[in-house]
Amino acid sequence: MPKTDSPLDWGTRYAGRMAGMKASEIRELLKLLDQPDIISFAGGIPDPALFPQEEIANVYAQICGDRKVFDAAFQYSVSEGDAGLRRWIVGYMAKRGVTCDMDNILITCGSQQGLEFLGRMFLSAGDTALVEAPTYLGALQAFSAMEPVYDTLPTGQSNRTVASYRDNAAAAGGTAKFAYLVPDFANPTGRTLSVAEREELLSFARDLDIPVIEDSPYVALRYDGVDVAMIQALDCAATGSIEASRVISLGSFSKVFTPGLRVGWICAPKAVIAKLTLMKQASDLSSSAINQRVIATLAEARFDRQVAQGVEHYRVKRDAMLAALDTHMPKGVQWTKAEGGLFVWVTLPDHLDATALLQDAIEQARVAYVPGHAFFADGSGRNTLRLSFSLPSVQMIEQGIAKLGALVAQAL
Ligand code: PMP
Repeated sequence: MPKTDSPLDWGTRYAGRMAGMKASEIRELLKLLDQPDIISFAGGIPDPALFPQEEIANVYAQICGDRKVFDAAFQYSVSEGDAGLRRWIVGYMAKRGVTCDMDNILITCGSQQGLEFLGRMFLSAGDTALVEAPTYLGALQAFSAMEPVYDTLPTGQSNRTVASYRDNAAAAGGTAKFAYLVPDFANPTGRTLSVAEREELLSFARDLDIPVIEDSPYVALRYDGVDVAMIQALDCAATGSIEASRVISLGSFSKVFTPGLRVGWICAPKAVIAKLTLMKQASDLSSSAINQRVIATLAEARFDRQVAQGVEHYRVKRDAMLAALDTHMPKGVQWTKAEGGLFVWVTLPDHLDATALLQDAIEQARVAYVPGHAFFADGSGRNTLRLSFSLPSVQMIEQGIAKLGALVAQAL
């Protein structure tokens, strides 16, 4: 075999858009979960104790035990997704106030794939994506591959005009393409938007004439309070039908059942779903037929029961974390009181840097969290951090927050 002198310089061969794709701090931190003496509040992943092992095993066995069902489950399948699963989702969306039919639903490989498709569908390089600050890191990663710029969605206190958004987007060389947000128990803040805030956002999107992407994988996991109407439901009511709505919603089975089967969905007007289906075909032909069948069977048999178990399980942990923060955090530290989901968002006094503190947290206190600035498109938020209560036991939460509180007090 001939030998060449210099190996290929891969870095010079990548497309320009690869420059914006950087390793996520969370993924690096997830490796810490393997060190047994670290109490990790870092990974925002569901507790595997809730994965319905026996039921999943039974459903796979049923499918494999019936030759006809088996053949279909192990075959290529339609890009739109399993018909039975889409029918179940149509019923679920109706309960959430969105009247739609099967042609309004595309099954995706987790809602993460939906984010990637929507970024690719709407954003040309230089276009503007409007996001919350902070927002879901995985969305920033999915969108950033398209080389957009980011602007921050207006909050209650914002006095920015719609024209200022148009001007900013034009100055960046494109137009504002969509508003993206996680309205229920957000990742990373745990915050939920009120109906009034949702209406305000819709009115802003109407004025700017852009679509709204409503990403709500945690919505079923509510521990107190009452459900708030989906933005998509509010818009369908205002416009008369999903076909006239500007909202695209993303759903997921990852937090209720398991992320391992990688099943999520997009609910949108039919014309949008038709385009997305072409993207699905080009991307992976379809989601796994057997995994969709398994999720459909589980959803039909025990969705509400599974949600109830999750709510009971996580509520105790959420309560333990909030109580421990009350007891152990020094004055001047603030945090969100999440009514659901998996996260509490902590704001330290301005002069503290949560990234710098993480090293001491890991080495001295043996506690891990995610520094908040990773969730800001502009890298701000140095004094913030995200805590997840999903994995550690109540006892570990109490111990870990006590250690973190002592560390913060020392740093003040
Ligand atoms: N959106 C948000 C806000 C998330 O937190 C996550 C999971 N971390 C996802 C989407 C992706 O979830 P999945 O692909 O498992 O459905």
